[in-house]
Order: sequence, then structure tokens, then C-alpha cells
Amino acid sequence: MVGRPMSLASALQQHFGFSAFRPGQEEAVRAVTGSSPARDVLVVMPTGAGKSLCYQLPALVRDDLTLVVSPLVSLMQDQVESLEAIAPGRVALINSQRDSAANAAALRCAADGSLSALYVAPERFGSPGFLEAVRGRVGLFVVDEAHCVSQWGHDFRPDYFRLADAARYLGAQAIIASTATATPQVARDIERRLGLRDPVRVTTGFDRPNLDFVVVRCGTAAVKHRRIAAALAEPGATPAIVYAGTRKGVDRLAESLRAALGREVLAYHAGLGREPRAAAQRRFMSGDVDVVVATNAFGMGVDKADVRTVVHESVPGSLEAYYQEAGRAGRDGDPARALLFAEGRDKGLHVFFIQRSEVDDALVERVASTLMFRGMDGRYDVDARELASDSDDEERLRAVIGHLVQAGVIQPAPAPADRLRGRILTPFDGRARAACRTLVAEGTRARWRQYRAIWAYVEGDGCRRQAILTHFGDTLAPVAHGQCCDVCHPALLAAVPGPRGGANDGREPSGGDLDEAIMATVESASPGCGRTRVVEILRGGRSRRLLENSYDGLPAYGQFDHLTAAEVLGRVDGLITAGRLRSTGGSYPKLVAGAPSGRLAEASA
Ligand code: ADP
Ligand code: MG
Repeated sequence: MVGRPMSLASALQQHFGFSAFRPGQEEAVRAVTGSSPARDVLVVMPTGAGKSLCYQLPALVRDDLTLVVSPLVSLMQDQVESLEAIAPGRVALINSQRDSAANAAALRCAADGSLSALYVAPERFGSPGFLEAVRGRVGLFVVDEAHCVSQWGHDFRPDYFRLADAARYLGAQAIIASTATATPQVARDIERRLGLRDPVRVTTGFDRPNLDFVVVRCGTAAVKHRRIAAALAEPGATPAIVYAGTRKGVDRLAESLRAALGREVLAYHAGLGREPRAAAQRRFMSGDVDVVVATNAFGMGVDKADVRTVVHESVPGSLEAYYQEAGRAGRDGDPARALLFAEGRDKGLHVFFIQRSEVDDALVERVASTLMFRGMDGRYDVDARELASDSDDEERLRAVIGHLVQAGVIQPAPAPADRLRGRILTPFDGRARAACRTLVAEGTRARWRQYRAIWAYVEGDGCRRQAILTHFGDTLAPVAHGQCCDVCHPALLAAVPGPRGGANDGREPSGGDLDEAIMATVESASPGCGRTRVVEILRGGRSRRLLENSYDGLPAYGQFDHLTAAEVLGRVDGLITAGRLRSTGGSYPKLVAGAPSGRLAEASA
């Protein structure tokens, strides 16, 4: 099923006009083109490395259909547009945001063999009509942004769970999975969940030698905004992307930067509507305006090579998300800088969001019973808003649907964004309940691990580049073309002037933080634990008992490894004396929150 032999280098030149492969690309392309049977491939490369080419070139060289699964409509659109310019009439996309006539036309072209590449969203595989139309025609099955298949990743999509089955059913010769964000754990999870068979693993290093990494700890938002403005006013600091955590944060910071810099600053977030958003993107890309303040909605598919600074005005939820966004700086290889501004209160906000995103048994029950009740005939079709009243709820709902899919209870089908459709495979019985409970617990632990990793980065006192590479399992020695990071070159902080001559002004955790961490650990550890175990958790112990119970997934795990066991134990005993904690006694005494009623607990706090 493979096209006329031609050297891959000349195919690269002919189709894309590139004179050479980038590291890793040729190896990936070779694994799925040529005379031997195509092999599964796992491509792990940092953002901007050129992952798309690893499947786009094979798609154009082969004479069967390459099916590309991509999680975001905007990503698909970008890729299809640029491929269409290279190979007119040979690429198409299908998604639920287009009208059904356009989707049907694309499907006909896929079925009659005139397409080389078809881009689809993952939920498309719930449509029997779609599966039958392309079955037997698919050579390569591509899963882009494959970390979405992993609950350990930062952007889990339940629809990704069924992709392995779909690829097998369609008779695909090989699966190519690509991602920028795989830690070794996520990489293993991707291989397992997509059922990759002895895959060719293509990993380029994660190091970005031309980027300098700086973490600036600030006491207040006002200080932070002044320092961001100062950093952007430095010569050569722009074009710059400034990420803010919320829409409101974007508007506020854009306003304050406009005043401080005395020039136009763009704002970009999902609340703006399609046209203003597209205009902002266009003006930034063309260089018309050189600073954009945005939420994380900005960036996927934005391919501007000469970004000199990426600023984060607050700490993102995971190191994966951080590195992906920071990685948008300096794609042209020239020196560029990633500045992360951390405020003490960011940490509390993370805890708040993690706790708020927690799925409880009651929600799983509610969703399952609604679907079961509506789906008496084996199919369900419900209004998503009935089950989720706001966007936090939506996220929780997405997680629950994912658990139900993974537990084998339901199989979602394509649906507009506000509906849930699919088939019911089995009743929501004791087995399914238990499976969901395990998945919920796993998800929570994964979020706490992400929390710990990003804060270890922010608060760590070692080389930041090394910390990132270690996190991503990159064992090569770090290489820096510039000054590396603020730990290796504290002078880098001088370029971000602040009230104390550029020094960090973050504060160390206080005794009060330790008390709260002890209380939180006692309340959330399951099974509960005694005095010494709590101390071990807070100090980041690695004992078998501790790991078996996943205590390393608790929020405060390892947060107090700078204290001695005696110091932590002293505080635990202090809390017992103060009546906030008590021991259950018996031969395996456990700690429990001490006060008999909420009012008393508050009074003694
Ligand atoms: P990502 O790994 O983030 O998915 P992309 O596939 O979007 O990266 O590629 C980033 C940019 O690199 C694109 O503009 C692409 O055209 C360019 N690119 C990819 N491969 C090559 C190459 N071999 N030579 C030159 N430019 C390339
Ligand atoms: Mg990509």
C-alpha cells in the first residue's frame, strides 16, 4: 500500500520545501514508509520541534488514507489549511462544528480513495456510519496530542480511551502517537492505552538551549505587575506572550501594561468572541502589536517563531502545561526568556481548584443514573447542562464520563458540545462502581502529583533547566546557550527589577502552614494514619507502606522535608495538646480531627 519509491529527503523538499529533516523526524517517517510493514511509532518532542511532519509527510507519500485524530478543532483547521496549500484536494476534516453536508462530502472523498489525510475529532469514532465508510482504507492511524489519552496527563479527554479499539476495527496498519508532554509515566500510559505494539520510540531531547528560565517570587499582585512591565520594557524583550490565569486577570493585566508601557497591548481570551480573538491573533502574528496578554486558550496552533519572552503572571497547574506554554518562546533558535511570576497565594488557589475539581461518589451516581434512566433503549441523549451547571461542573462531568467509558459502562457518540450521546454497554453495577471509585482516586492523586511537581520547580533551589529535564525523564546533560536560569545566574533576576533590587521576595512556609498541612493530611489520608506516619508523609518518606497507600499523592506530601522529624512531630503533638487532633487509641492508634463539632474546631483554630 506504499507509494512509488522516492528518497524521503526529496519528498520532504518537494512537498514542504524543507532542505533537511529536524532531529527525530526522519526516523519516525521511515518507520511508516518504505517497503517493510509500517510500525507503530511514539513521537515525543517538545513543542515546535515539528511533530506534525512525522505523519504529514508519510500521509502524502503513502497511497492509502492517514486518519489524524486531533483534540481541538482550531488545531485541525490550521493543519488542514497548511496541508491544503501543499496538496490541494488531498486533505479534509470532519467535526461537529461544520455542517453535515460538508462532513458528508469529506467522508465521500475518504471513502472513494481521493484523500491522503483526514482529520477528525475523537468523538467521531462513536459514529457507525463513519467507521463503515473508512474501514479497510486506513493505513496510518495518528493520535496527535496523545497525552490526552492519559489520566496522568494534564489534559485528559475521555474520548481518547476508545481510539485503540477504533484503530484495530478500521484495520489500520500502524498507529503514530505524538505528544510534547510525556513524562516517562505518561509515555508508558500512552503506549498501554493505545495498545502500541513494540513501537519505534522517537524522542528528541526536551532541552531548549536558547531559552533562559527565571522564576520571580513576588509578595503581591501589584509588585508582580510592576515587575512584568519592567521586564517587557527591556530592549529585545518583545514580541512577548503574557499568560494570565483567568479572563479577568487578562483584562486587568493588559490594562496595567498598557499604562506602564505606554503602547498598545492585546488581550486574548475565550470570553471575547471569535472575531476579536482572531483579530488579536492576527495583529500579534503580523507584528503589528508586540505584546499579547492571554489565557491558555492562546497558543495551540499559534506558530510565531520570534517570540522573545513568555511571561506567566501566575503559576500554571502543572509543569507540563508550563513547559508547553513557555516553549512558545524562541522557536527560531535565537535567545529568548521564560519568566514565571509566583505569588504566595497561587499555591492556595491551586489547592482550592484541585479540591473543587474533585469528583465524589454522589456525582458519579447521579450521572450514571441519569444516563441509565434516559437510555432505557440502550442509547442515551441528554442535555449536558442538565448535569453540569457551570464550567467547573463541566470539567467534573467530563471526568465522570471518562470513568464510565473506562469502566466499560458507556460508549460516547459524536454530539454537539452541549449534548451527551452514546450507548450503554453494561448496567452501573457493583463492579462498575468499584472501578469508577478507583479511577476517581487515581485522578485525584495525579492532580496532587502535578501540584507537587510545579511547586517543586517554583520553590526548588537547583538549576531550573535540570529540574525540567529530570521531570520529563530527559537524561541528557542540560545545555544552555545563554545564562540558563536565575539559579545558575542570579543576575538574570536583575532584568526583572523589583522593590528589593531584583531579589526574590517570596517567603518561606511559616509554622501556621505546617499546622494546616498536618490537619489536612490527617483529614485526607485514607486509610487514616498515626503520628509517625503523618510526620513521614510531610517529610516525603518513601517507605513501602506509604507508597502502597498512595500517601505520596496527598497535597502536603514532602512539603516539609527541610524540617527534622522531631520538629514536625513537635507540631503534631502541639495540635494534640491544643485539642485540634486526638488519637483514637488502641493498638494501632490513628489521628483524627479533635474537636467534636465544627463550631468548636473554629474556636480552637
Ligand atoms: P509541534 O512539534 O509543536 O507539533 P509543528 O509540527 O507545528 O510542531 O512544527 C513547528 C514548525 O516547524 C512548523 O512551522 C513547521 O513547518 C516547521 N518545521 C517542521 N519540520 C521542519 C523541517 N524539517 N525544516 C524546517 N521547518 C520545519
Ligand atoms: Mg503539534
